[in-house]
Amino acid sequence: MTTIGSVTRQIAALEISSKQNKPAAAASGSSLRAAHSKQTSQEKVTKLLTKFSAPNPFSSSKPAQGSSLRHPTNATNQHAASSSASSSKSNLATKSPAPVPLDIGTYDGGLETENEKRGEKVYGEAAEELALDSSVSGKNPTREWTLHDFEMGRPLGKGKFGRVYMVRTKSEPKYILALKTLYKSEIVQSKVEKQIRREIEIQQNLRHPNVLRLYGYFHDEKRIFLMLEFAGKGELYKQLSKRGSFSESRSSRYIYQMADALIYLHGKHVIHRDIKPENLLLGINGELKIGDFGWSVHAPGNRRMTLCGTLDYLPPEMVEGKAHNERVDYWALGVLTYEFLVGAPPFEDRSSVNNTYRRIAKVDLRWPRDRELSSEVKDLISRLLQHDPQSRIPLTEVLRHPWIVKYNKHRESA
Ligand code: ATP
Ligand code: MG
Repeated sequence: MTTIGSVTRQIAALEISSKQNKPAAAASGSSLRAAHSKQTSQEKVTKLLTKFSAPNPFSSSKPAQGSSLRHPTNATNQHAASSSASSSKSNLATKSPAPVPLDIGTYDGGLETENEKRGEKVYGEAAEELALDSSVSGKNPTREWTLHDFEMGRPLGKGKFGRVYMVRTKSEPKYILALKTLYKSEIVQSKVEKQIRREIEIQQNLRHPNVLRLYGYFHDEKRIFLMLEFAGKGELYKQLSKRGSFSESRSSRYIYQMADALIYLHGKHVIHRDIKPENLLLGINGELKIGDFGWSVHAPGNRRMTLCGTLDYLPPEMVEGKAHNERVDYWALGVLTYEFLVGAPPFEDRSSVNNTYRRIAKVDLRWPRDRELSSEVKDLISRLLQHDPQSRIPLTEVLRHPWIVKYNKHRESA
């Protein structure tokens, strides 16, 4: 049963996340980055699509139901939590006079102001390509949405193609979401309209507790709106910047969740290809959510890619421009584990991109002198950071690795 305590904790978490400040972005287009300075990755233009749709509370076939809420921490469950707190009011009446409505913060009018100055109407083929509407999408049509269906809350951040706001649906039950805007003309300028469309379509059916969901999408003349699961604790990379590094137990819990989500994605033939702290969000209970899928492709990937952005998370086969498959994500998981614990990625060389390249190609893995790492985690990292993709430890074995099991005993599959 949901208690007032747990609702209060959720509200507290919301308040914490409302105090976020966006740290200064690092220089983009270079592999040189200060530890935990955010990658702007200008070239990765489609990555802002966190495009997960699923049979969901906004389905067109039946009205939204609190009972369809599956994951304890998604946006919709915050609603569920507050309503169950309200229904159990009588028990708690002496302690708490009224249920606390979840605060979505103050709207700054930014969408309208921005829309006056930003973007242009698009025409022709591009306009058709970007007429994205989940109410008419093939497999899982949702109800029809427009901007008027939402009560606007506080700004959550600025994405490359537009702003992100905390919102609540006006109709009952009132769901809290993150609404992300994308200016169509900017997508067209970046020549990614087809890719954006395809990626939304590919990933409509993905659903996993550690993958940020996209509940629906709609558009107007100039913009596309994505109805995203609200990640109550914001960006993981901000936490990492604040703390410098994470403890082994915290890192192990994150890596478990990452491995589990990646097993799911690979099972759906989706390779992520852009795993790094900047692309991970945190749910209201601190659970990890993969939130950026711009680089994801359908397997088999065996294709070449243009190098851009940071090299730090790229495996040897990708920096060398060779064919690659889902095992690129195994490598990145090793880099992520290292960065969580050490505070910087293992092959980083701030003096030159070429040095980073060389260090990755020869797997020049060095352990930090100023930080004691357990032999278990060194073993796991070394097994993930294998030059030969086939030699990398499979994700199912990652879940059974002693370093993972040690800190995830409460989880079933561990
Ligand atoms: P960038 O290239 O700077 O990462 P982007 O175009 O990928 O931008 P996002 O990172 O998705 O855009 O969104 C911008 C900011 O909005 C994020 O840094 C994050 O703080 C916030 N944000 C985005 N989606 C959500 C969400 N679902 N829940 C909570 N906050 C979010
Ligand atoms: Mg982003």
